[in-house]
Amino acid sequence: MHEMSLAEGIRGIVEDSAREQGFTRVNAVVLEVGALSSVEVEALRFCFDVVMRGTLAEGARLDIEPVPGRGWCLPCGQTVDIAALYDPCPVCGSYQVQATGGTEMRVIALDVDGAPEHAPQQVE
Ligand SMILES: [Zn+2]
Repeated sequence: MHEMSLAEGIRGIVEDSAREQGFTRVNAVVLEVGALSSVEVEALRFCFDVVMRGTLAEGARLDIEPVPGRGWCLPCGQTVDIAALYDPCPVCGSYQVQATGGTEMRVIALDVDGAPEHAPQQVE
């Protein structure tokens, strides 16, 4: 499952941050999830709970911040909103739309005990 490796990536970030910053407990992980990132949020929540067992983030809350999908439409020559990858342009109906925003998932903050809030890092 794709979401399992994503959850493991989050665990890696949490553990690396804990080592660097010396916090001992993670209360919540704030994730930015793009509409075009192909991440299934419910599946990710499930995997997150499983993967975090026995770590300092066991039972931590997973907060999801949705990011809207954006694309560049070639015929229109402008940025348009798209709800899903490979959706047509909402203005002209063309499929020549290149995704430009909302394609990523990343950790944007950790709510921890014992250290200040953590800076963003990329998850792939
Ligand atoms: Zn268009």
